[in-house]
Amino acid sequence: MSRLVMKFGGTSVADLERIRRVGRLVAAEVRSGKQVAVVVSAMSGKTNELVAWTDQAGRAAPGLPDSDDEYDAVVASGEQVTAGLLAMVLRNMGLNARSWLGWQLPIITSEAHGSARIEDIPPANLSASMDRGEVAVIAGFQGRTLDGRITTLGRGGSDTSAVAVAAAVGASCDIYTDVDGVYTTDPRIESKAKRLAKISYEEMLEMASLGAKVLQTRSVELAMAQRVPLRVLSSFTEPGEAGEDTGTVVCDEEEIMEKRIVSGVAYSRDEAKVSLLGLPDHPGVSSAIFGRLADANVNVDMIVQSRSRDGGLANMEFTVGKRDAARAVEIVNAAKAEIGFEEVAVNEDVAKVSVIGVGMRSHAGVAQSMFKALADKGVNIQVISTSEIKISVLIDSAYTELAVRALHAAYGLDQL
Ligand code: ASP
Ligand code: MG
Repeated sequence: MSRLVMKFGGTSVADLERIRRVGRLVAAEVRSGKQVAVVVSAMSGKTNELVAWTDQAGRAAPGLPDSDDEYDAVVASGEQVTAGLLAMVLRNMGLNARSWLGWQLPIITSEAHGSARIEDIPPANLSASMDRGEVAVIAGFQGRTLDGRITTLGRGGSDTSAVAVAAAVGASCDIYTDVDGVYTTDPRIESKAKRLAKISYEEMLEMASLGAKVLQTRSVELAMAQRVPLRVLSSFTEPGEAGEDTGTVVCDEEEIMEKRIVSGVAYSRDEAKVSLLGLPDHPGVSSAIFGRLADANVNVDMIVQSRSRDGGLANMEFTVGKRDAARAVEIVNAAKAEIGFEEVAVNEDVAKVSVIGVGMRSHAGVAQSMFKALADKGVNIQVISTSEIKISVLIDSAYTELAVRALHAAYGLDQL
């Protein structure tokens, strides 16, 4: 009998009426003969509220031990509520259902409270439950350490719970959300954005990590590594209503017949640019800067170095998450004498705009089309970075929408 894991995000379980609709979607899959497990998020807004309470309680008072473990005990509670409510609703529809919390299943994770990684899901409980014809309603986002403390997986982590559960019991995974699939770009910026019927794991991974919020990056990583068949669908339709041509399938590149050069345009305003001016130009300078940032767990994304013609001094620019910008400046300033730079500056008014597509591997001129499209609109490029299947540019954030639309048109994405 085929197995399916259905995952519902916060907006899909935002109130009882929506939870009942979720119940109908689940019931339809059960009636079609599948063994079904469900993974739920907290009601939308709930996790934010819980996080705010932990902030007010003071997660880490100066000089006292931090309370990231208790943060997890608090913020994991939102998912407990929706798991229980959905199980009740399913029972009232005549189905056999029960809720499972992360520690009960169990979902064993690392000890990194607040951003724990799933290490193991022993499948015995879940398999037995599915074989009994029970719908297992699993609280997403949470797990427990080997020694029994509650953990959470980082914001958006229920996607990862769902994929991990699917991998553990050999199921495919349908992610239900408030959009009906993965789009060529954010439809709020470009109304001509098109839903993609299929996208490769690699492209989805880039899209997620470059700012498309539809799936947590780690969930895509895991689906790709474990070859879990993944679909993104809307939960805002009644069973059967959406028809066959709906959602986006995330799959192996080989399964996609019509190859595109570029599949999507992503953007992120979450980064800040740090500029170090007047650096000595000799071996070891980059290592001194980025070694310190790495030691402090500051993630660096784009990097560009330039050297002035006569002075022999260099400038270095790099981007970090906005949240880390102040810390990055503190860290380099603390080592100013050793690194030996003249000035450090931060610019938060930047946006990273990226084009993604596996077709780049085999086509020349993809970057040039990007630069030309931006030049035609008068958008200045501050930093460029590339990988095998993506090109990213850093621009003034005021031009984000303009750049996204220009690129969407330049690669013909509105013609799909
Ligand atoms: N409720 C958690 C969050 O908002 C996990 C999730 O919804 O995926 O981050
Ligand atoms: Mg989400």
